[in-house]
Amino acid sequence: MATILLVEDEADLAQIVLRELAAAGYTTVHALDGIEALQKHAREQVDLVILDWMLPRLDGLEVLRQLRQNSATPVLMLTARSEEMDRVIGLEVGADDYLTKPFSVRELIARVRALLRRNELIRQTLAADRSDAGEILLRGPLMLNPQTHIVTLSGCELELSPTEFSLLQLLLRSPGRAFSRVYLIETIWSETYVGGDRSVDNAVLRLRKKLGSVGDAIETVWGVGYRLRPESATPVTQEQWRR
Ligand code: CA
Repeated sequence: MATILLVEDEADLAQIVLRELAAAGYTTVHALDGIEALQKHAREQVDLVILDWMLPRLDGLEVLRQLRQNSATPVLMLTARSEEMDRVIGLEVGADDYLTKPFSVRELIARVRALLRRNELIRQTLAADRSDAGEILLRGPLMLNPQTHIVTLSGCELELSPTEFSLLQLLLRSPGRAFSRVYLIETIWSETYVGGDRSVDNAVLRLRKKLGSVGDAIETVWGVGYRLRPESATPVTQEQWRR
């Protein structure tokens, strides 16, 4: 069962929330201030953080900012005023969800459950995208062979870095699917996206140049990231290729 870190300095409220989380089957860890929150998050295997905005020593926003430097743990923010929520959501350090106080504990548990489910789905998709299906991918004059790690354009071998290769493979495997920068960083670089990171954009730029006409099919999805324009990218198995 998942472990939830509750960061809340109001003792009465914390007590109720901890009790209800335990009743719902979750393991709980409690931190009373921002510093303690960071320490406990670093020490325990935490699956989700419920983070109050107003905290002693280090406020919730700063805690979130520091967490996001190296962690993608889902964070549900608790705010006292609804005006604060715009800042929580609008910020690039982004909380995954928020609740305005006062809230019903039942609603909180429902949100926790939904966030954990969403995270599990993302984890599964990530595992599938990282796994090498081994199929040769074709797109117009372009051919990518994951087993030999060779990419050819009209029969000529292209020199791609491992990063460019992985990015191209991911795009070719799911034409039409939009990939966010956050997702690409996590899938290909196995890192957590930090705001302002240009790695993805630079890699796409290089790929577009190397791929010639096929490069034009890598489209920018405004506000999201990138996708390969759906067309006739047909995955075939190694078996079919040999025939
Ligand atoms: Ca508080």
